[in-house]
Amino acid sequence: MKVRDLLAETEHCLWCGETYSEPMSWAAFLGESPLGRFCERCDSKLAPIDFGNACRTCSKPEFSQCDDCAAWNEDPFWSCREFTNRALYEYNPFLKEVIARFKYRGDAALAEAFSERIARAVHPGSIVTSIPLNDEGHYERGFNQATLLAGRLKPVPLLERSLSSGKQSKRSREERIAAAEEQFRILPGAVGKTIVIVDDIYTTGATIRSAARLLYENGAKSVMGVTLARA
Ligand SMILES: [Zn+2]
Ligand SMILES: [Zn+2]
Repeated sequence: MKVRDLLAETEHCLWCGETYSEPMSWAAFLGESPLGRFCERCDSKLAPIDFGNACRTCSKPEFSQCDDCAAWNEDPFWSCREFTNRALYEYNPFLKEVIARFKYRGDAALAEAFSERIARAVHPGSIVTSIPLNDEGHYERGFNQATLLAGRLKPVPLLERSLSSGKQSKRSREERIAAAEEQFRILPGAVGKTIVIVDDIYTTGATIRSAARLLYENGAKSVMGVTLARA
């Protein structure tokens, strides 16, 4: 046996189940958890977003400013407030499958595997919160995937759902924005804070911006988003 095998840890890839060995890193040696629990082959199917080559406001790949953000900037509320969303990965067919597995099939360990990567995108000293599920979603899944994604950062509940907003995917952009405006209620704790909202996918930004707006209206000093994907 070689020294390098002795210094390797055997892991099961959370996606394909294959065993793989990960070279013992200093982080692992010091008792910190490894970055992710995907084998190299599965990890290579993820497409990390190159921030230098993406919308500066929402991380949409390939645009200097995307159409969605241009539309948001016309809203008087957002034209004079700071809001950026850091999205870690492109919403490619592989990530779509991964999110579907943890979101709809209840694989909580898979969502947790990303929480270290989410944590690295958050500035220390920020208060972290997650988008609450509507009751329907919570009942169907039994867990909140956004809270699991934020897990390593010990998210604080600052928002709750005010009404069942139904399934978002079947609506137009305007309908989604209108519905999103009314879907949250604020909980105490936002005043004077730098807040990061964690969610799984940024699509038009309607959900996360309505949450951010409520936090700003209730005294937050600054609000930004971190999502696993930018659709
Ligand atoms: Zn794998
Ligand atoms: Zn954008």
